[in-house]
Amino acid sequence: MEKIVSLCKRRGFIYPGSEIYGGLANTFDFGPLGVELNNNIKNSWWKNFVQNRKDMYGLDGGILMSPKIWEASGHIAGFIDVLVECKKCHKRFRADQLNNKNKCSECEGELTKPKKFVPMFKTFIGPVEDSSSIAYLRPETAQAIFINFKNIVDSFHPEIPFGIAQMGKAFRNEITLGNFIFRKLEFEQMEIEYFIKEKDWKKHFEYWKKEMEKWVISLGVKKTNLRWRKHAKDELSHYSKQTEDIEYNFSFGGFKELYGLAYRTNFDLKNHSEKSGKDLRYIDLKTNEKFFPHVIEPSFGLERTMLAVLSEAYSEEEIKGIKRVVLKLKPSLAPIKVAVFPLLANKPGLVKKAKTVYDILKPNFPTAWDGRGNIGKRYYAQDEAGTPFTCTVDFDSLKNDDLTVRDRDTMKQVRIKIKELLDYLDKKLK
Ligand code: ATP
Repeated sequence: MEKIVSLCKRRGFIYPGSEIYGGLANTFDFGPLGVELNNNIKNSWWKNFVQNRKDMYGLDGGILMSPKIWEASGHIAGFIDVLVECKKCHKRFRADQLNNKNKCSECEGELTKPKKFVPMFKTFIGPVEDSSSIAYLRPETAQAIFINFKNIVDSFHPEIPFGIAQMGKAFRNEITLGNFIFRKLEFEQMEIEYFIKEKDWKKHFEYWKKEMEKWVISLGVKKTNLRWRKHAKDELSHYSKQTEDIEYNFSFGGFKELYGLAYRTNFDLKNHSEKSGKDLRYIDLKTNEKFFPHVIEPSFGLERTMLAVLSEAYSEEEIKGIKRVVLKLKPSLAPIKVAVFPLLANKPGLVKKAKTVYDILKPNFPTAWDGRGNIGKRYYAQDEAGTPFTCTVDFDSLKNDDLTVRDRDTMKQVRIKIKELLDYLDKKLK
């Protein structure tokens, strides 16, 4: 984990939040390569779960919504963490995550009595900060989907079963800190509410388990590092009748929640109907049945996906006595697809030719230019960034209009004519 954290900082994937002011715990900023990796993960998710399907509708709801939503959804009363604090070292813990409920795991100090705590961030709308102006930063993206359920049904008349998907920021005032981007205060969720008939819930639950697993494996995560865990009754969220987590074998402490899959029943639509006075029932045009659809909710976290993908991709190798660190990211996820170098940075002829290659590639693929230091260091930097191919312009290139293309994983080099380069890379990067 430490190695991944320092690689992420060094290569511009992830920086600690507010760093020059000493940092702000559990916040992070994504650097140039982190943004690209995140976008590639999100694009893969959106394509797979929204664009490639006939039964899915996208949504981008607000972060700030009426506080009445969080009352009706049960979050104000039921989205609760139980906090205990060590009287000696003042470290805080989530009561449900403690092995020993009596002693601090850090200093063996006595623990305070458990105290209930709503982990939603509060803010105020307007200039007056009183109880009537309180608003919350959303702790999940799901509620915007329920609130817009009727809008989408009225616009598109979907046949049940169908889903609504949304990705975006969620905020939680988390008690336990640490573990890099595994638990942040501000994170990104990718969620689906899949609306079904009650009698079919088990079938859909099983189907979504498979779909979730299939997608994360498609990102390069090994099946052997995944397992499902069913929530015990006393662990279920206030809205759920059955929840299973898909857990990933994280390097900082073994299997931990990667994503959740919940059977939310018709809890949300029913409550919002009652509290808002708007009829949110669905009418089945074939049978004329009017009912509150039940819901299966696959809920994905972007940062945990990123951490799993980086953990799988990180590798250290020693070839002929030379050590190297390589991020073996799938080409579709790699932030930079190809890098271009002149063999020597102080030979204008090589630089000029390499620049023409860079200009050809840049509009077609995310392409990097590097003309600093020696060639070995440049390869090393691109290996760490996970760049699948690097193109080097050498003296033969000037005569033959070709260059070498080095494969990140095998380190093998082939000579390719510059006029064939786009086609070559296009095929390799598919
Ligand atoms: P945990 O038990 O680890 O606190 P949770 O069960 O509260 O997680 P869910 O409410 O199921 O999490 O949220 C859905 C997904 O959102 C999680 O599976 C995870 O991928 C992501 N997620 C939740 N909380 C955080 C967080 N604080 N930082 C980063 N990702 C998070």
